[in-house]
Amino acid sequence: MQIKQNESLKEHTTFRMGGNAIRYVIPENLNELVSACNSEENIKFIGGGSNILIAEHEYEIVIDLGKFDTSIQRLEDGKYRVGASVRLQNLINSINKDENGGIEYLFSVPGLVGGAVTMNAGRGRKYNKCISDYIVSVDALVDGSIKTFIKEECGFGYRNSIFKNSNMIVVAVVFDFPKVSVSESEKLKKERIELCKENQDNSLPNFGSVFMEYDFKIMNFVKKISLRSGGCHFSRKTSNWLLNDGGNYKKALKCIKRVELLHKIFRRKCKREVIIWE
Ligand SMILES: Cc1cc2nc3c(=O)[nH]c(=O)nc-3n(C[C@H](O)[C@H](O)[C@H](O)COP(=O)(O)OP(=O)(O)OC[C@H]3O[C@@H](n4cnc5c(N)ncnc54)[C@H](O)[C@@H]3O)c2cc1C
Repeated sequence: MQIKQNESLKEHTTFRMGGNAIRYVIPENLNELVSACNSEENIKFIGGGSNILIAEHEYEIVIDLGKFDTSIQRLEDGKYRVGASVRLQNLINSINKDENGGIEYLFSVPGLVGGAVTMNAGRGRKYNKCISDYIVSVDALVDGSIKTFIKEECGFGYRNSIFKNSNMIVVAVVFDFPKVSVSESEKLKKERIELCKENQDNSLPNFGSVFMEYDFKIMNFVKKISLRSGGCHFSRKTSNWLLNDGGNYKKALKCIKRVELLHKIFRRKCKREVIIWE
């Protein structure tokens, strides 16, 4: 198990923002994860760091979930047991080789399997596609022991699961993927990358969508004026994306709160997707 002192969290998030972890712990197997979690202190968990906005504070213990289980085990045709530390791209490439697939639209998502399952990552609401579509069961660490949840017990909803904002850690997932030919999956991945190049603003650090529920007209206005505070602003290219151009946590939060205020003024619903460490 690696333990780093005073580790900058900026390096571990796609938004490139955040304070330090007094102890940054990287378990390299399940036993190490269990013992790292066995602490009285307030623990924060980070996967791919692609959906988190972190304040410039000091955090006692941050556990990095990126190394403890990177295994992909083929069980039977279409069925796999996948460790939570596996990168989504690695999972997709691996199942595609066996002529399985179905989640190629996640090829552009810079997250890990554990984070994606926790957030129930997917395509936009109108596409009705998310990673839980092919989940059979999830193994999670709950109060020091592993508990298996069948899909129906996982509370999956739009960008939601029972694992989100809980003290449970997703450690492995059993999937049952449909058949997809190698040529078809290659085509789908290429299309996804092209679509993202065209539509997603990756000119500056970001964490994907800020809100999971919002008013389209308000967000179009926010995009048009590129609502900003200090070095943080909403993208003019991609609606609902906040960019970090040398800003800080206060400025990022100010942008988010201004959009929430606009929704309040016009009595529209608005719900955050990004996880915020205050
Ligand atoms: C360029 C870009 C594109 C994106 N595109 C999409 C998209 O198309 N669709 C989409 O849904 N999202 C998208 N996102 C958002 C993000 O990538 C997803 O939500 C992703 O699934 C988060 O995974 P992660 O491993 O990075 O989680 P993190 O950001 O590290 O963590 C998110 C939350 O989950 C918790 N967590 C992480 N791992 C675990 C675990 N094993 N067990 C329990 N809790 C855990 C963390 O504590 C945190 O609260 C995008 C982000 C970026 C930067």
